[in-house]
Amino acid sequence: MARMRHVRARLSRRASAERLSTLGIDVYIGAARFTGLNAVAVDGQILRFKKALIATGARPLLPPISGLAEAGYLTNENVFELTECPERLLVIGGGPLGCELAQAFSRFGSQVTIVEKEPMFLSQEERDAAQILSGVLARDGIDVRLNTDVVNVQRRGNEKRVELVDAGNKGVVVVDHILVGIGRKPNVEDINLEGAGVEYHRDSGVRVNDFLQTTNSRIYASGDVCLEHKFMHIEDASARLVVHNALFSGRERLSALTIPWCTYTDPEIAHVGLYVTEAIRKRIPVKTFTVLMHDVDRAIADGEEEGFVKIHVKERSDKILGATVVARHAGEMINNIALAISSGLGLDKLARVIHPYPTQSAAIKMAADSYHRTRLTPSRKWLLKRWLAW
Ligand SMILES: Cc1cc2nc3c(=O)[nH]c(=O)nc-3n(C[C@H](O)[C@H](O)[C@H](O)COP(=O)(O)OP(=O)(O)OC[C@H]3O[C@@H](n4cnc5c(N)ncnc54)[C@H](O)[C@@H]3O)c2cc1C
Repeated sequence: MARMRHVRARLSRRASAERLSTLGIDVYIGAARFTGLNAVAVDGQILRFKKALIATGARPLLPPISGLAEAGYLTNENVFELTECPERLLVIGGGPLGCELAQAFSRFGSQVTIVEKEPMFLSQEERDAAQILSGVLARDGIDVRLNTDVVNVQRRGNEKRVELVDAGNKGVVVVDHILVGIGRKPNVEDINLEGAGVEYHRDSGVRVNDFLQTTNSRIYASGDVCLEHKFMHIEDASARLVVHNALFSGRERLSALTIPWCTYTDPEIAHVGLYVTEAIRKRIPVKTFTVLMHDVDRAIADGEEEGFVKIHVKERSDKILGATVVARHAGEMINNIALAISSGLGLDKLARVIHPYPTQSAAIKMAADSYHRTRLTPSRKWLLKRWLAW
């Protein structure tokens, strides 16, 4: 944890107020609040603008569990300040944050219980990716409770007694700390969006169009305050898009961006583009090429055989619609596929890429090779067989 805080401090220097000032940006420290359609007040001063960007982010969402507030809990805002490893930890929520931290604390030595109300973790991900994760967490010694609700918490001295309900069956776990990771809520209150003519919803955040413009055309929004997927690189991409759309000619659309993401468990789970369920919903016929990591030489050599590469293409074409990678380094591997999608390269082109041997990303080429094999016509197959027999 001390190392993590050191790294965090080092990385945060890049976005420090000091650095921004040296770049020529006027930095005001304080809570900003709109005072009209083209002005904000901050620290007693009124700042007028031609264009503005709302990037107030999000904060932890808290579940309405009786006794939780009184018993005390950790969130992503204070869990990283712990200086002692909790002996027993309950994690509420099986999204990326819950799964990452449950696994990390378990590997530090905590006895971790993770509770998720849905029947699987990472509810947006492909089912088999989520299943691998449940298996891995259970193998790490984590007490995995899917389909389970936390209904009550009571503090008893330094302990917390937590009541769980799973398909009508009640159970109790006793822990030292509770970490809540059920999602994040956009920071839309206290900035007088109404006064600025900016529409918003408390759950989904500031309403924006595909150009990230709010209902006040001078004001844009980016990042967690307005987007469904709350990730650092999406904030970065959306803020760049706003700078382009607000200050330069030509307009870029959010929907045109290819955005991958990754959950940093071990193995990692990374995704880009469409999920199969989305493609089906959009009536796009899909064919999937899958390679299991235990068939990839480098993964075998590294002892990192858990996972797969799955690439979805539009049927009868090599157009890549989306991909999921579950592998130790999935976050690095998905970039190859994101590059292919954003550059309009199909699986046929990926099959022609030469990878050094041995690498784990060879799994992508293997998936592309499987696509190639489907292109062999019966006559070509026959010729190939004859040639091999000769
Ligand atoms: C524990 C944790 C781990 C994460 N890990 C990853 C990861 O590995 N990869 C990844 O891609 N993403 C990760 N994320 C998500 C990522 O941090 C966010 O998506 C990203 O920071 C969003 O940027 P943002 O600028 O929209 O909001 P923020 O980074 O939240 O910034 C908003 C800022 O606005 C300030 N603010 C709010 N209201 C006002 C106001 N009225 N006046 C002035 N200032 C105001 C806030 O204080 C804050 O500093 C993680 C998030 C958490 C919580």
